[in-house]
Amino acid sequence: MKAILFGGTGFIGQEICCYFLEKGMEVYAASRSSSKHVTFGTRITYQLHSLQELFENMRDDYLILNLAGESIHSGRWTEKRKHRILESRMQTTNAIVKAIAEVSNKPKLLMNASAIGYYGHSDEQTFQENDPPGEDFLADVSTRWEQASLPAQLHTRVVLLRLGVVLGKHGGALPRMVLPYRFGIGGRIGRGTQWVSWVHLHDVARICHYCWQNDAIAGPVNVTAPHPVTMNEFGKSIAHVAKRLHWIPLPEIALRIGLGEMSEIILEGQRVLPKKLLDSGYEFLYPSLDIALKDLLHK
Ligand code: NDP
Repeated sequence: MKAILFGGTGFIGQEICCYFLEKGMEVYAASRSSSKHVTFGTRITYQLHSLQELFENMRDDYLILNLAGESIHSGRWTEKRKHRILESRMQTTNAIVKAIAEVSNKPKLLMNASAIGYYGHSDEQTFQENDPPGEDFLADVSTRWEQASLPAQLHTRVVLLRLGVVLGKHGGALPRMVLPYRFGIGGRIGRGTQWVSWVHLHDVARICHYCWQNDAIAGPVNVTAPHPVTMNEFGKSIAHVAKRLHWIPLPEIALRIGLGEMSEIILEGQRVLPKKLLDSGYEFLYPSLDIALKDLLHK
Protein backbone atom coordinates (compact mmCIF):
# COMPACT_ATOMS: atom_id res chain seq x y z
CA MET A 1 0.00 0.00 0.00
CA LYS A 2 1.28 3.46 -0.93
CA ALA A 3 0.54 6.78 0.80
CA ILE A 4 1.08 10.26 -0.66
CA LEU A 5 1.14 13.01 1.96
CA PHE A 6 0.75 16.59 0.77
CA GLY A 7 2.33 18.76 3.47
CA GLY A 8 4.12 15.56 4.52
CA THR A 9 7.27 17.60 5.18
CA GLY A 10 5.64 19.44 8.12
CA PHE A 11 5.23 18.88 11.85
CA ILE A 12 2.24 16.52 11.64
CA GLY A 13 3.12 15.09 8.22
CA GLN A 14 6.52 13.77 9.28
CA GLU A 15 5.05 11.96 12.30
CA ILE A 16 2.45 10.29 10.07
CA CYS A 17 5.12 9.38 7.49
CA CYS A 18 7.15 7.76 10.29
CA TYR A 19 4.14 5.81 11.62
CA PHE A 20 2.97 4.65 8.17
CA LEU A 21 6.52 3.45 7.39
CA GLU A 22 6.50 1.45 10.64
CA LYS A 23 3.23 -0.10 9.46
CA GLY A 24 4.93 -1.30 6.27
CA MET A 25 3.50 1.28 3.86
CA GLU A 26 5.42 2.92 1.01
CA VAL A 27 5.35 6.59 1.93
CA TYR A 28 5.80 9.70 -0.22
CA ALA A 29 6.11 13.15 1.39
CA ALA A 30 4.91 15.45 -1.39
CA SER A 31 6.46 18.92 -1.25
CA ARG A 32 6.32 22.06 -3.40
CA SER A 33 10.05 22.40 -2.91
CA SER A 34 12.78 20.22 -4.41
CA SER A 35 15.21 21.12 -1.62
CA LYS A 36 13.17 20.35 1.49
CA HIS A 37 14.78 17.68 3.67
CA VAL A 38 12.60 14.91 5.05
CA THR A 39 13.60 12.36 7.69
CA PHE A 40 10.71 9.97 7.03
CA GLY A 41 9.40 8.83 3.66
CA THR A 42 10.56 9.59 0.15
CA ARG A 43 10.24 13.27 -0.74
CA ILE A 44 8.60 13.93 -4.10
CA THR A 45 8.17 17.37 -5.61
CA TYR A 46 4.79 18.25 -7.02
CA GLN A 47 3.22 20.94 -9.16
CA LEU A 48 -0.50 21.47 -8.95
CA HIS A 49 -1.07 21.15 -12.71
CA SER A 50 0.59 17.72 -12.95
CA LEU A 51 -1.01 15.79 -10.08
CA GLN A 52 -2.88 13.48 -12.45
CA GLU A 53 0.46 12.19 -13.76
CA LEU A 54 1.72 11.77 -10.19
CA PHE A 55 -1.34 9.70 -9.20
CA GLU A 56 -1.24 7.69 -12.45
CA ASN A 57 2.37 6.75 -11.66
CA MET A 58 1.35 5.22 -8.34
CA ARG A 59 0.12 2.13 -10.23
CA ASP A 60 -0.75 0.08 -7.07
CA ASP A 61 -3.33 0.86 -4.38
CA TYR A 62 -2.68 4.19 -2.71
CA LEU A 63 -4.22 6.72 -0.34
CA ILE A 64 -3.86 10.49 -0.26
CA LEU A 65 -3.50 12.57 2.90
CA ASN A 66 -3.69 16.33 2.42
CA LEU A 67 -2.26 18.56 5.17
CA ALA A 68 -0.86 21.30 2.94
CA GLY A 69 -1.48 24.93 3.76
CA GLU A 70 0.21 28.13 4.83
CA SER A 71 0.74 28.25 8.61
CA ILE A 72 -1.89 30.19 10.57
CA HIS A 73 0.77 31.10 13.18
CA SER A 74 3.33 32.73 10.92
CA GLY A 75 2.42 36.39 11.48
CA ARG A 76 -0.39 38.88 12.10
CA TRP A 77 -3.55 38.15 10.18
CA THR A 78 -3.49 40.96 7.65
CA GLU A 79 -6.04 40.70 4.85
CA LYS A 80 -3.20 39.52 2.57
CA ARG A 81 -2.16 36.76 4.99
CA LYS A 82 -5.74 35.64 5.54
CA HIS A 83 -6.11 35.35 1.78
CA ARG A 84 -2.96 33.18 1.59
CA ILE A 85 -4.11 30.97 4.50
CA LEU A 86 -7.37 30.24 2.68
CA GLU A 87 -6.11 30.13 -0.91
CA SER A 88 -3.11 27.85 -0.20
CA ARG A 89 -5.57 25.25 1.13
CA MET A 90 -8.22 25.74 -1.57
CA GLN A 91 -5.77 25.58 -4.47
CA THR A 92 -4.05 22.39 -3.29
CA THR A 93 -7.32 20.65 -2.41
CA ASN A 94 -9.04 21.70 -5.66
CA ALA A 95 -6.07 20.38 -7.68
CA ILE A 96 -6.06 17.06 -5.79
CA VAL A 97 -9.82 16.60 -6.26
CA LYS A 98 -9.60 17.46 -9.97
CA ALA A 99 -6.75 14.97 -10.49
CA ILE A 100 -8.68 12.25 -8.62
CA ALA A 101 -11.64 12.77 -10.97
CA GLU A 102 -9.42 12.46 -14.03
CA VAL A 103 -7.05 9.65 -13.08
CA SER A 104 -7.90 6.07 -14.04
CA ASN A 105 -6.33 4.48 -10.93
CA LYS A 106 -8.36 6.14 -8.16
CA PRO A 107 -6.99 6.38 -4.61
CA LYS A 108 -8.62 4.11 -2.04
CA LEU A 109 -9.02 7.02 0.38
CA LEU A 110 -8.64 10.80 0.57
CA MET A 111 -7.99 12.11 4.07
CA ASN A 112 -8.20 15.88 4.09
CA ALA A 113 -7.11 17.94 7.08
CA SER A 114 -9.45 20.47 8.64
CA ALA A 115 -9.51 21.95 12.14
CA ILE A 116 -11.80 22.17 15.16
CA GLY A 117 -11.89 25.90 14.41
CA TYR A 118 -14.73 24.69 12.14
CA TYR A 119 -17.10 24.94 15.14
CA GLY A 120 -16.24 28.54 16.04
CA HIS A 121 -15.59 29.18 19.74
CA SER A 122 -17.54 28.90 22.97
CA ASP A 123 -16.79 28.53 26.69
CA GLU A 124 -20.13 26.73 27.31
CA GLN A 125 -20.97 24.49 24.37
CA THR A 126 -19.59 21.02 23.59
CA PHE A 127 -19.14 20.17 19.93
CA GLN A 128 -19.48 16.85 18.10
CA GLU A 129 -19.15 15.99 14.43
CA ASN A 130 -22.73 16.77 13.43
CA ASP A 131 -22.72 20.30 14.89
CA PRO A 132 -22.93 23.20 12.41
CA PRO A 133 -19.95 25.46 11.62
CA GLY A 134 -19.16 28.71 13.44
CA GLU A 135 -18.89 32.12 11.85
CA ASP A 136 -15.37 33.48 12.40
CA PHE A 137 -12.36 33.42 10.06
CA LEU A 138 -11.07 29.96 11.03
CA ALA A 139 -14.57 28.48 10.83
CA ASP A 140 -14.88 29.90 7.32
CA VAL A 141 -11.46 28.52 6.26
CA SER A 142 -12.23 25.06 7.70
CA THR A 143 -15.71 24.93 6.14
CA ARG A 144 -14.49 25.92 2.69
CA TRP A 145 -11.48 23.58 2.93
CA GLU A 146 -13.80 20.67 3.76
CA GLN A 147 -16.28 21.58 1.03
CA ALA A 148 -13.46 21.69 -1.53
CA SER A 149 -12.57 18.05 -0.77
CA LEU A 150 -16.12 16.66 -0.86
CA PRO A 151 -16.51 16.27 -4.67
CA ALA A 152 -13.89 13.47 -4.39
CA GLN A 153 -16.64 11.42 -2.68
CA LEU A 154 -17.87 10.54 -6.19
CA HIS A 155 -14.66 8.56 -6.69
CA THR A 156 -13.36 7.44 -3.30
CA ARG A 157 -13.91 7.44 0.46
CA VAL A 158 -13.29 10.88 1.98
CA VAL A 159 -12.38 11.48 5.65
CA LEU A 160 -12.22 15.04 7.02
CA LEU A 161 -9.76 15.22 9.90
CA ARG A 162 -10.93 18.00 12.22
CA LEU A 163 -7.65 18.38 14.05
CA GLY A 164 -7.49 19.72 17.59
CA VAL A 165 -4.44 21.44 19.11
CA VAL A 166 -1.75 18.91 18.24
CA LEU A 167 0.84 18.43 21.00
CA GLY A 168 4.35 17.34 20.02
CA LYS A 169 7.86 17.80 21.36
CA HIS A 170 9.39 19.64 18.45
CA GLY A 171 6.64 21.68 16.84
CA GLY A 172 3.09 22.96 17.11
CA ALA A 173 1.82 24.94 20.11
CA LEU A 174 3.35 23.03 23.03
CA PRO A 175 7.00 24.26 22.99
CA ARG A 176 5.73 27.88 22.93
CA MET A 177 3.29 27.18 25.79
CA VAL A 178 5.98 25.52 27.92
CA LEU A 179 8.63 28.22 27.44
CA PRO A 180 7.34 30.73 30.06
CA TYR A 181 7.21 27.89 32.62
CA ARG A 182 10.86 27.02 31.90
CA PHE A 183 11.71 30.67 32.71
CA GLY A 184 9.59 30.56 35.87
CA ILE A 185 7.00 33.06 34.62
CA GLY A 186 4.17 30.72 33.56
CA GLY A 187 0.54 31.44 34.44
CA ARG A 188 -3.05 31.78 33.26
CA ILE A 189 -3.43 33.05 29.69
CA GLY A 190 -6.31 35.48 29.16
CA ARG A 191 -9.41 34.66 31.22
CA GLY A 192 -8.33 30.98 31.41
CA THR A 193 -11.83 29.59 30.86
CA GLN A 194 -11.31 29.09 27.09
CA TRP A 195 -11.22 25.40 26.11
CA VAL A 196 -8.19 23.59 24.72
CA SER A 197 -9.21 20.47 22.80
CA TRP A 198 -5.76 18.96 22.46
CA VAL A 199 -4.46 15.69 20.98
CA HIS A 200 -1.06 13.97 21.21
CA LEU A 201 0.84 13.94 17.90
CA HIS A 202 1.32 10.18 18.10
CA ASP A 203 -2.44 9.64 18.45
CA VAL A 204 -2.95 11.77 15.30
CA ALA A 205 -0.74 9.36 13.33
CA ARG A 206 -2.48 6.30 14.84
CA ILE A 207 -5.90 7.82 14.05
CA CYS A 208 -4.94 8.37 10.40
CA HIS A 209 -3.91 4.72 10.14
CA TYR A 210 -7.09 3.66 11.97
CA CYS A 211 -9.24 5.65 9.51
CA TRP A 212 -7.42 3.98 6.63
CA GLN A 213 -8.11 0.53 8.06
CA ASN A 214 -11.78 1.14 8.92
CA ASP A 215 -13.85 1.40 5.75
CA ALA A 216 -16.91 2.43 7.74
CA ILE A 217 -15.31 5.74 8.75
CA ALA A 218 -16.14 8.59 6.38
CA GLY A 219 -16.90 12.30 6.55
CA PRO A 220 -15.86 14.52 9.48
CA VAL A 221 -13.84 13.00 12.33
CA ASN A 222 -12.89 15.04 15.41
CA VAL A 223 -9.22 14.33 16.05
CA THR A 224 -9.09 15.40 19.69
CA ALA A 225 -8.43 13.56 22.95
CA PRO A 226 -11.55 12.57 24.95
CA HIS A 227 -10.69 14.91 27.86
CA PRO A 228 -10.36 18.55 26.76
CA VAL A 229 -9.32 21.05 29.46
CA THR A 230 -9.59 24.79 30.00
CA MET A 231 -6.55 26.96 29.28
CA ASN A 232 -6.09 27.48 33.03
CA GLU A 233 -6.12 23.71 33.65
CA PHE A 234 -3.71 23.27 30.74
CA GLY A 235 -1.25 25.71 32.33
CA LYS A 236 -1.59 24.03 35.72
CA SER A 237 -0.86 20.63 34.12
CA ILE A 238 2.29 21.97 32.45
CA ALA A 239 3.42 23.44 35.78
CA HIS A 240 2.65 20.18 37.59
CA VAL A 241 4.42 17.91 35.10
CA ALA A 242 7.39 20.29 34.57
CA LYS A 243 7.55 20.98 38.33
CA ARG A 244 7.31 24.75 37.81
CA LEU A 245 5.11 27.57 39.14
CA HIS A 246 1.77 28.58 37.60
CA TRP A 247 1.46 32.10 38.90
CA ILE A 248 1.96 35.11 36.58
CA PRO A 249 -1.17 35.70 34.45
CA LEU A 250 -0.77 36.94 30.89
CA PRO A 251 -3.57 39.50 30.39
CA GLU A 252 -5.86 39.25 27.39
CA ILE A 253 -5.20 42.85 26.37
CA ALA A 254 -1.45 42.24 25.93
CA LEU A 255 -2.11 39.42 23.46
CA ARG A 256 -4.79 41.38 21.62
CA ILE A 257 -2.39 44.32 21.15
CA GLY A 258 0.61 42.09 20.31
CA LEU A 259 -1.06 39.63 17.94
CA GLY A 260 -4.18 41.38 16.69
CA GLU A 261 -6.95 39.08 15.42
CA MET A 262 -4.53 36.12 15.50
CA SER A 263 -4.72 36.25 19.33
CA GLU A 264 -8.06 34.40 18.95
CA ILE A 265 -6.12 31.17 18.51
CA ILE A 266 -4.99 31.49 22.15
CA LEU A 267 -7.73 33.58 23.74
CA GLU A 268 -10.68 31.59 22.39
CA GLY A 269 -11.32 27.87 22.21
CA GLN A 270 -13.90 25.14 21.85
CA ARG A 271 -14.73 21.96 23.77
CA VAL A 272 -14.72 19.22 21.14
CA LEU A 273 -15.29 15.51 21.71
CA PRO A 274 -14.09 12.69 19.39
CA LYS A 275 -17.51 11.02 19.24
CA LYS A 276 -17.01 9.19 15.97
CA LEU A 277 -13.66 7.71 17.02
CA LEU A 278 -14.94 6.61 20.44
CA ASP A 279 -18.16 5.16 19.01
CA SER A 280 -16.13 3.17 16.48
CA GLY A 281 -13.90 1.71 19.22
CA TYR A 282 -10.67 3.72 18.81
CA GLU A 283 -8.56 3.58 21.98
CA PHE A 284 -6.43 6.63 22.67
CA LEU A 285 -2.83 6.05 23.67
CA TYR A 286 -2.88 9.43 25.44
CA PRO A 287 -6.45 10.05 26.66
CA SER A 288 -5.58 12.51 29.44
CA LEU A 289 -3.38 15.59 29.40
CA ASP A 290 -1.11 14.60 32.29
CA ILE A 291 -0.21 11.32 30.54
CA ALA A 292 0.47 13.16 27.28
CA LEU A 293 2.58 15.86 28.95
CA LYS A 294 4.59 13.31 30.93
CA ASP A 295 5.48 11.66 27.64
CA LEU A 296 6.25 14.92 25.82
CA LEU A 297 8.08 16.84 28.56
CA HIS A 298 10.03 14.05 30.24
CA LYS A 299 11.10 11.50 27.61
P1 NDP B 1 3.23 22.69 9.02
O1 NDP B 1 3.26 24.16 8.78
O2 NDP B 1 4.30 22.07 9.84
O3 NDP B 1 3.16 21.92 7.63
C1 NDP B 1 2.31 22.34 6.61
C2 NDP B 1 2.84 21.89 5.28
O4 NDP B 1 2.08 22.57 4.27
C3 NDP B 1 4.30 22.27 5.05
O5 NDP B 1 5.12 21.15 5.27
C4 NDP B 1 4.35 22.76 3.61
O6 NDP B 1 4.90 21.75 2.75
C5 NDP B 1 2.91 22.95 3.20
N1 NDP B 1 2.67 24.37 2.89
C6 NDP B 1 3.08 25.48 3.58
N2 NDP B 1 2.67 26.59 2.97
C7 NDP B 1 1.98 26.18 1.86
C8 NDP B 1 1.34 26.86 0.80
N3 NDP B 1 1.32 28.21 0.74
N4 NDP B 1 0.75 26.13 -0.19
C9 NDP B 1 0.78 24.77 -0.15
N5 NDP B 1 1.41 24.07 0.82
C10 NDP B 1 1.99 24.77 1.82
O7 NDP B 1 1.77 22.40 9.63
P2 NDP B 1 1.29 21.24 10.63
O8 NDP B 1 1.98 19.98 10.27
O9 NDP B 1 1.31 21.75 12.01
O10 NDP B 1 -0.26 21.13 10.20
C11 NDP B 1 -0.68 20.43 9.04
C12 NDP B 1 -2.07 20.92 8.67
O11 NDP B 1 -2.96 20.64 9.74
C13 NDP B 1 -2.10 22.42 8.41
O12 NDP B 1 -2.88 22.69 7.27
C14 NDP B 1 -2.76 22.99 9.65
O13 NDP B 1 -3.53 24.14 9.40
C15 NDP B 1 -3.65 21.83 10.11
N6 NDP B 1 -3.85 21.87 11.56
C16 NDP B 1 -2.76 21.81 12.40
C17 NDP B 1 -2.93 21.88 13.77
C18 NDP B 1 -1.77 21.82 14.72
O14 NDP B 1 -2.00 21.85 15.96
N7 NDP B 1 -0.53 21.73 14.25
C19 NDP B 1 -4.29 22.02 14.35
C20 NDP B 1 -5.35 22.07 13.38
C21 NDP B 1 -5.12 22.00 12.03
P3 NDP B 1 5.96 22.08 1.57
O15 NDP B 1 6.57 23.43 1.87
O16 NDP B 1 6.96 20.97 1.66
O17 NDP B 1 5.16 22.05 0.32
